[in-house]
Amino acid sequence: MTALSSIQEYHKKLTASNITCVDTVNYYLTKIEEKKQLNAFTEVFATEALQKAMELDAKRENGEPIKKLHGVVIAIKDVICYKGYRVTAASKILEGFTSVYTATAVQRLLDEDAIIIGSCNCDEFAMGSTNENSVYGNVLNAADETKVPGGSSGGSAVAVQAGLCMVSLGSDTGGSVRQPADFCGIVGIKPTYGRISRYGLIAYASSFDQIGIFSNSVYDAALLLEVMSGVDEFDSTVLMPQTPKGAYEGTENFTKLLSIEENKKYKITYFKEALHHPSLDKEIKENILALIDKLKSEGHTVTAMDFDLLDYVVPAYYVLTTAEASSNLNRYDGVRFGYRNKDNVKDLTDFYKRTRSKGFGKEVQRRIMLGTFVLSAGYYDAYFSKAQQVRRLLADKTKAIFAEYDAVILPTSPGTAFTFGEKTDDPIAMYLADIYTVFANLTGLPGISVPLFKHSNTMPFGLQIMTAKTDELTLLQLSEHLMQHYKTYQHLNN
Ligand code: GLN
Repeated sequence: MTALSSIQEYHKKLTASNITCVDTVNYYLTKIEEKKQLNAFTEVFATEALQKAMELDAKRENGEPIKKLHGVVIAIKDVICYKGYRVTAASKILEGFTSVYTATAVQRLLDEDAIIIGSCNCDEFAMGSTNENSVYGNVLNAADETKVPGGSSGGSAVAVQAGLCMVSLGSDTGGSVRQPADFCGIVGIKPTYGRISRYGLIAYASSFDQIGIFSNSVYDAALLLEVMSGVDEFDSTVLMPQTPKGAYEGTENFTKLLSIEENKKYKITYFKEALHHPSLDKEIKENILALIDKLKSEGHTVTAMDFDLLDYVVPAYYVLTTAEASSNLNRYDGVRFGYRNKDNVKDLTDFYKRTRSKGFGKEVQRRIMLGTFVLSAGYYDAYFSKAQQVRRLLADKTKAIFAEYDAVILPTSPGTAFTFGEKTDDPIAMYLADIYTVFANLTGLPGISVPLFKHSNTMPFGLQIMTAKTDELTLLQLSEHLMQHYKTYQHLNN
């Protein structure tokens, strides 16, 4: 068996009886074994995946119609619950903990006959940009193993990049799907906040967290999105039915509507401050500017816009998310979940302290302390309230932008994948590299990183696109258009 380029191609081969689901699962299991050094998986569900593949092969033999994700081999980030399987958030503190229920997103994949092949390595509690904060160790970028895969969903990105599964799930609180997709040369989409239920997603910062998708093609991402989207009685923040472009009606139709606007002329804007930011790699900037010229010459409108809030987005993001994290991570106290430290415990407080200082890694501890600090009585107004005001201003700005434009384009990250260790001693430098991704999470907008470019340093990089809330349809259509006409990066497997 050879690598499959898309779910559509796979389904054609299955229905023509050229391959079986068992062949396919075996193929991926072999690949995972061959590429073990990448450390993309925290656990592989080999037996169960093969069992499910056999059942699906039998279903087809019985003439049952195939469902949307029949036999599609999917990996999930180790922050997403799947009943009966371990979920650790790549943290020692969840050592030995098994999911007691299945996340809605995963259940919807299973209901369409997907095969979950394993869970993927990530930064501890999804906090990080390089996957260097995992109790399981680093994940290697398959394009260059001396480079980080990005984070926090590094394992999920590499699983797709290296052809260890067809598509995967990550979570994106401040860029954790788009940035690793950018570093690995694949598609990574973060839907509108509330598009996919967060039920069963381990919380980092609840008003930012959203499940996202990694894939090789826009079509595959659109397919998973339509399967997982929609109202869920277990998550009241999920978007309610409505019928603007792509919102509720569209959720069932993303794949059908993907190519209908092929000749549309888009109205696009970009932020001057983003493309002329001192931290942005020169070549990334040049490539995006050249793309803008091409788009204009083909009749699209691309206009620059002032965005004087850019320097506030990272501070606002880190104040608000650490505040939410300090509350969300309270529950890991050694009593209810996973790891507990029993060395010479004096009293209950001592027990909590020992468990939490041994169970959480450095970055998570830093964020809990930072979050507790910004919420403390004396500093609340100086930090938390200020950051909320920034969030409000961004929301207003967003409304104004999308009253006029279809989409915003910007880099996904200021540079290509870092070398291991490059930024680990300087958390501020690491945080600042999130400058282009956190905007979508602060405002709830959908965003995608589309793998269009290759740097002269050989690494891939993407273009980030954002559209109005609930307008994933335009996001996907524009991405597909760019993939068809402007892609210069050739993926590893092609
Ligand atoms: N790099 C960001 C952070 O460290 C993104 C995290 C995320 O999206 N989960 O917080």
